[in-house]
Amino acid sequence: MWKVQALVVHILLMGSVLSTYFQPTILPNLEPQKTMRDLGFKPPADRLVVFLTDGLRAATFLARNGSDVPDLRDIFRKQGRIGISRTCAPTKTRPGHIAIFGGFYEDPTAALVNFRYNPSNFDTVFNRSRNTIGWAHRNVVKIFIRLPHGGAPMRFKSYMEAELPEKLTCDKWTFEKVQKFFKKGANVREFRNLKSVVFFVYLGDMDIAAHRFKPLSKRFHKKLQYTQRGIQTTYELFERVFNDSRTAYLMTSDHGTTNEGSHGGGSTHEVETPLFMWGAGVTREVVDSEA
Ligand SMILES: [Zn+2]
Repeated sequence: MWKVQALVVHILLMGSVLSTYFQPTILPNLEPQKTMRDLGFKPPADRLVVFLTDGLRAATFLARNGSDVPDLRDIFRKQGRIGISRTCAPTKTRPGHIAIFGGFYEDPTAALVNFRYNPSNFDTVFNRSRNTIGWAHRNVVKIFIRLPHGGAPMRFKSYMEAELPEKLTCDKWTFEKVQKFFKKGANVREFRNLKSVVFFVYLGDMDIAAHRFKPLSKRFHKKLQYTQRGIQTTYELFERVFNDSRTAYLMTSDHGTTNEGSHGGGSTHEVETPLFMWGAGVTREVVDSEA
């Protein structure tokens, strides 16, 4: 009999822990705040470009004073600010993206179970901008596409790896799609006239390369070179298209990776991600004298 009683007590204790910890983290009935434009001020930027390198950890980005990302280091020598952003376990693509663009940590049950659909509705910076366009893996697009949008649907171009002609060419796909988009005069004209635009440039290769080759390998390093150069080239493209010093840039990751190429846990390598901001509205007092 005592065994049954012990089991019941354990079930009750376990249930109380789970019901305390697995609570929804979304606060209900929040009122949207006024923007700078609503208040009559000119915001420091008209558009934001987000380069999201899936699975790139801060340790790789910052290694040897940025020598492994030389083209991005060149940008930083002239402008911008660098830091480390922290995500939290489970360090996966979905919770990482929701934290960055929705501004909250999803509750653990939703993050662990519902990778492919939205268990709850939440607001995002994509929705608030009213003008979002993104290029991303279809699984990432699915996180956002079914959310309420108040009449300004987010526009995404998406792919699945199986549709690409070669392996590990997700970033090539994205860079080429962005270029192609701005080759059309109508697209350039439309976006030059818009304010509060978010461009979402999702780069999936770092995560896949880390799983396949591990972050300290030569093959991973080679892939990193391609991706970081592509970010610089795409930045230059945006500057040419919008030549008005009104574009802000952010480069960050949804989560990091262990030396073994895995993620999901709460270790430093999985949790710490790069945060690099530059462009309109990002000032710093001292510029590198080597620039
Ligand atoms: Zn992964």
